[in-house]
Amino acid sequence: MNITGHNSYSGCRFCEIQGIYSQKHKHVYFPTNFKAKYTKKNHTNWLLHINELEVASTSKDKEILVKKYGNYK
Ligand SMILES: [Zn+2]
Repeated sequence: MNITGHNSYSGCRFCEIQGIYSQKHKHVYFPTNFKAKYTKKNHTNWLLHINELEVASTSKDKEILVKKYGNYK
């Protein structure tokens, strides 16, 4: 499926929640907010993200996009 693991910044394969890295524990955590509404990932955005990755010119740019979107190609 070309998605990043559960310890990545975009570790949820269902929604767009963003993790926060704890330097102390060397682990990515996801803030618990039961009132927040998380945007579900959808097929159209998935394809847009893959397209952005494909046209990224440098590996640094790709790395940033992988962290942001949680998928790679
Ligand atoms: Zn989620």
